[in-house]
Amino acid sequence: MKKADIDCFFAELERVIPAPKTELEYDNVFTLLVAVVLSAQATDKSVNEATPALFAKASTPEAMVALGEDAVREHIKTIGLFNSKAKNVIALSQKLIDEHGSEVPRDRDLLQALPGVGRKTASVVMNEAFGEPTIAVDTHVFRVSNRTGLAPGKTPLAVEQKLEKVVPDRWKPSAHHWLILHGRYTCLARKPKCWDCVVKTCCPYKDKTPDPADEPVKPKGRKLAPPSTGRPKKAAKKTVKRKAKKGRGVNRRPV
Ligand code: SF4
Repeated sequence: MKKADIDCFFAELERVIPAPKTELEYDNVFTLLVAVVLSAQATDKSVNEATPALFAKASTPEAMVALGEDAVREHIKTIGLFNSKAKNVIALSQKLIDEHGSEVPRDRDLLQALPGVGRKTASVVMNEAFGEPTIAVDTHVFRVSNRTGLAPGKTPLAVEQKLEKVVPDRWKPSAHHWLILHGRYTCLARKPKCWDCVVKTCCPYKDKTPDPADEPVKPKGRKLAPPSTGRPKKAAKKTVKRKAKKGRGVNRRPV
């Protein structure tokens, strides 16, 4: 994507979403970290349905450890991979208590050393909690970056590194949220809503989806029956069978 198009792309997204935020619900940096860990390979919606009751009982590492793995598992059993996630939530809480004075560290390496925290989770927490200009690449960011030509790459890390290079600093702090929200609601995986897209004038994607309202209307009504052969099909078959029994009307080998 050309530089002018990149500026146009983010300027338009900023115009329609001036203050983008994560859709995960949380009370403090610790509960944000837990929510992001729980959201791996799960939807934000499923996490938001489970966490209010969990965070009402445990919004600090100490309270989470006191609650225990079984109770955490029970709270999050509607979220994918809940067994390993329950284990990780308890283990990371314990590690925060033991090594970080119960605070979530503002450091990528320290975050990634916590159980259940990978590069993407660390990037989201660094960005959302501490305002760092990190751009976490999830499935939406990966697709939008490739499809639009903003930051093509074969792996999430390659896309992330490309985004770091091409996104101007002024857009970086919110770029992750804009790309996620744009991918989640407009630049959909199967059928992007190009006709209704605020960045369509700056997006070089060639196969833009046309407005369904402009598609030709198919005529309604019953299908016409094929022209009659003069004899109902079933009756015709029966006649052939009868003829076969009598030895007439079928090819027979000369004896
Ligand atoms: S025009 Fe289409 S492909 Fe381009 S960003 Fe918008 S929805 Fe995605």
